[in-house]
Amino acid sequence: MSDQNPVFIPGPTNIPDRLRLAMQVQTKDHRAPDFVETFAPVLEDTKKVFSTTSGKIITFPSSGTGGWEAAICNTLSPGDTVLVARYGMFSHRWIDLCQRHSLNVQIIECPWGSGAPADKFEAALSADSDHTIKAVLVTHNETATGVLSDVGAVRAAIDAASHPAMLFVDCVSSLGSVPFQMDTWGVDIAVAGSQKGFMLGTGMAILAVSPKALDAMDSAKLHRTFFDFRDMMKANSSGGFPYTPPLSLIYGMRESLKMLFEEGLENVYARHHRLAEGVRRAVEAWGLKLVAQSPELYSDTVSAIYVPDGFDSNALTDHAFAEYGVSFGIGLGEMNGRAFRIGHLGSLTDVMVLSGLATIEMAMADLDYPVDLGSGVIAAQNYFRNSRPTAVRSAA
Ligand SMILES: *Cc1c(COP(=O)(O)O)cnc(C)c1O
Repeated sequence: MSDQNPVFIPGPTNIPDRLRLAMQVQTKDHRAPDFVETFAPVLEDTKKVFSTTSGKIITFPSSGTGGWEAAICNTLSPGDTVLVARYGMFSHRWIDLCQRHSLNVQIIECPWGSGAPADKFEAALSADSDHTIKAVLVTHNETATGVLSDVGAVRAAIDAASHPAMLFVDCVSSLGSVPFQMDTWGVDIAVAGSQKGFMLGTGMAILAVSPKALDAMDSAKLHRTFFDFRDMMKANSSGGFPYTPPLSLIYGMRESLKMLFEEGLENVYARHHRLAEGVRRAVEAWGLKLVAQSPELYSDTVSAIYVPDGFDSNALTDHAFAEYGVSFGIGLGEMNGRAFRIGHLGSLTDVMVLSGLATIEMAMADLDYPVDLGSGVIAAQNYFRNSRPTAVRSAA
């Protein structure tokens, strides 16, 4: 019966029945004339989630990691310098990917639990008077630590240094769950995926690309074939795909966008904030600490929570899975063994979140954590009862 339980990992997220059904499609010919009618509106509507009118949506059959690679390979050349801060496992992995593509990666090391350091970016960009830095890379929501960074502040830092570098943002675990303002923040490439805020299965990388980044394609010399923006855009413009498209995910995406717009993006963001706040009230009641260093960094899609000294977070997540059939996120990288994560994004309600809190409390009690059984659930219940918007009844 454990497959009835929701997952509390920060992606892939729970797939609502409506989307599972939407993805159950018989084979269709992607070269038939009606594929245009299927795909073009999806590309157009996806822009609304990125808050862009000038950006171009480009998708690939791949997980989010392929989206990182596509962003880099289409716009940069071997030896180009990119500026990145490392503050968690995902920013670390994007750095690794850049290094393997022979980019010169200028790294700002930051403590895990902190966010994108706009002031340090500004200093590095101001010092770069020859403009060798071609792009600044930011992980919007660092899924390993539960930290949401201020992308607008990074844009302000680039502008303050009067630097022409492009701004690339990983929004895989934030897009469609918290506000994202591609045009306002002057983002040149935003990278997302199908399996988090869009509540679908894994397998589609979703990018939004600015006119400036598209211009960079002409001089970029990194190799690309499968991930070539030019092939994809050319095929898409006549309603096609350069190879076989992931048809079921495209159908899923169409329905996911409908769901998000029916609820209303503002309501979706408000729901994520409320659910996250309920989780944070529980963490406080348990007497535990978030990895995120301060409230303005708290992520509304995932909370990383330190276990008390002397406890092993892997034993906790293993026990929750073995005993209760519920998955929570393990601690990644530096946080392995030290923290566990509760994913609270995608298709989730108050009731589901309360079940997750109740479950992890049982697991903690079983392992003799100094945590009062029920304390976190009560804190979240009180918060949810007193903050319940009417819109929530029809949500998710
Ligand atoms: C999930 C995630 C990714 C993409 O991972 P894939 O497994 O390749 O889809 C990238 N960045 C962040 C911040 C993520 O949370």
